[in-house]
Amino acid sequence: MPNEYLRIVSEHSWIDYVGPDRLHAEVTADVIQDAIASLVTYMALDRPFPTIHAILAPDRNAFDSLIADVLRVEIERPSDPRRIAQPQRTDVVFLSPSVYATQSAYEYVPMDYRRMVHHEMVHVVQEYLSPNIETSPFWWDEGLAVYLSEQWQYESQFRFREPVIAAEQEKCIPSLADIERDPALAYAFGWTLVRFIEQQCGRETVRRGIRQMADGDVFAAIRQARNCFERDWQAWLLRGEATRALSPATDPA
Ligand SMILES: [Zn+2]
Repeated sequence: MPNEYLRIVSEHSWIDYVGPDRLHAEVTADVIQDAIASLVTYMALDRPFPTIHAILAPDRNAFDSLIADVLRVEIERPSDPRRIAQPQRTDVVFLSPSVYATQSAYEYVPMDYRRMVHHEMVHVVQEYLSPNIETSPFWWDEGLAVYLSEQWQYESQFRFREPVIAAEQEKCIPSLADIERDPALAYAFGWTLVRFIEQQCGRETVRRGIRQMADGDVFAAIRQARNCFERDWQAWLLRGEATRALSPATDPA
């Protein structure tokens, strides 16, 4: 790390940050702690999870450089203003919320930030457990992250919940093929598929999908016939059950 960075060392993570981002770094460490603990429980992991190394980039230029030089992930430069985090194995680069207003498509909302960090931890844990993450469908990756981070329960600038409510009201539900083709639909509806799997088949089946899917076929891994599954999931959505129960959650003011 460039030597102007400071470091918080805690049980589950190292967080590198520059001086003015101290509070954001503390929040990030706190969320990683809670997220890893809840994911270890959800995934029924029988061993401690490796240490997460997170870096809070102080601006967009540093964010792009860290992704290219530390994570070795190819990225367009400057990166898209909607990009605010990038995981790679147990490393994650976050754009500091201090510069959201001027260097991202979002405003800084503390609870949205916390859930976004949790979302990235889901990606990290999924990659750790997956036998072949490269084949994993985008809707499955994002669906797990949006569902398990609880982002789906909240209306927010990321709009994970709103498109599903609109689809329920308009009785206009996409097909699985639509969701596999269109990344925007994968973001919006992936969590409904994961929630449906969990409700119908249980957590163990979600875990099996993560641990056993090596060829891109989630339905084979969870032992569901795709056509029947699709029909039942669409009917469930049309009944408004995807967004029900905890809806709409609100944060304390
Ligand atoms: Zn994601």
